[in-house]
Amino acid sequence: MAQTPLPPRVILLMRATTYRARPFLEAAARLGIEVVKGIDMPPELAEYWHAPLGLQFDQPEQAVEAIVEFARRNPVQAILAVDDSATVLAALASEALGLAFNSSEAALAARNKYRMRQLLSAAGVPCPNFRLYDMADNPTQVAAEVEYPCVVKPLLLSGSRGVIRANNPAEFEAAFRRLGRLLASMQRVPGSTGILVENFIPGFEVALEGMLDRGQLKVLALFDKPDPLDGPFFEETIYVTPSRLPVSVQTEIADCAAQAAAALGLRQGPIHAELRVNETGPWLVEVAGRSIGGLCSQTLRFGPDVSLEELILRQAVGLEIASWRGDEGARGVMMIPIPGAGLLKRVDGVEAARQVPGIESVEITAQLYQPLVPLPEGESYLGFIFARANEPAEVEAALRQAHARLHFEVEIMLPVLQ
Ligand code: ADP
Repeated sequence: MAQTPLPPRVILLMRATTYRARPFLEAAARLGIEVVKGIDMPPELAEYWHAPLGLQFDQPEQAVEAIVEFARRNPVQAILAVDDSATVLAALASEALGLAFNSSEAALAARNKYRMRQLLSAAGVPCPNFRLYDMADNPTQVAAEVEYPCVVKPLLLSGSRGVIRANNPAEFEAAFRRLGRLLASMQRVPGSTGILVENFIPGFEVALEGMLDRGQLKVLALFDKPDPLDGPFFEETIYVTPSRLPVSVQTEIADCAAQAAAALGLRQGPIHAELRVNETGPWLVEVAGRSIGGLCSQTLRFGPDVSLEELILRQAVGLEIASWRGDEGARGVMMIPIPGAGLLKRVDGVEAARQVPGIESVEITAQLYQPLVPLPEGESYLGFIFARANEPAEVEAALRQAHARLHFEVEIMLPVLQ
């Protein structure tokens, strides 16, 4: 009698607190894929919690060994990272097991902003002039060397953390010191004390969500970001898809993102790229080897009920993909900005915001009585508003209207680092 084939098994690398795990787990359940959670925690703690695979993401050699050992006993088809925290580990472990994925060099280049700029500029992908400094450098001296306006940024953080625009030497010194303090407050890993300074790229911004399939880019969605992102900090707010840009500009953007992925050596799986566009065309801000962050993937559907995570899992285990195209209509999300540092004491207007035509959901993710830390030091939003309508302009209007109905009471009590 023929044996029933075992369901495919994937390891999903995640931090214990991520929002990104749930949609992957839901999609895996739909597809009958067994997911083993590779959670960033010391193995002793994992044992205590009965987690099958505790891994320390900051100790990649041991983590790869643990994954290889696990996979020897429980064969896996793919190793995926739900966000930036483990894209390099996923690539290293895939290499060790001979699974087709991005090389670890490519994954590393997509995580390190300096390495990324080196590879992009060597390949002729439009990107700003850049120079690498260290937090120990003298800001006054550096301020005299750089061009203005410019942007200072850390090499390894994400979500615009630590990214600050400076228009003149005085602003530069303050920005450099502020980023230096943020870096000093964090755990040191190789590369974490670097400060990248690059020319400010004028223009408006878009985000491209795509999948690489053996090096070929399939664009899943292009998001317009209708709020200007001109600094001094770069807090994301509204994303709306499909883009309202002319098709010719959208094609240039996709070509630029594809060139960037190729320059880094990314070949397989999801990418999320940020580009700025001005009269000279698209410029690459960043391309990451992962899918869109936070809860934002809820804006994407590929056929009835097919989520972005389902697409990623299907590709990873070699299941058929019926459509790479997003479904009809327009969708958008607002990442609700943090109005100021302090304690969140009360949130009003959520029901009223939900009543705005076109609004699909309002999710407040910040916890009451927890400190709110805005950018450039912080790393989260108050929550997310989702909208759906026939046209992108209606989605944008609904998101703004819903946001206007929300009221956040924040007790100012934390000193803002200057
Ligand atoms: P992160 O990985 O933390 O998101 P990015 O390098 O993508 O860091 O920068 C975050 C945001 O800062 C970008 O989306 C963009 O709005 C802005 N930004 C970064 N670099 C530049 C630049 N050189 N010129 C203009 N804006 C920039």
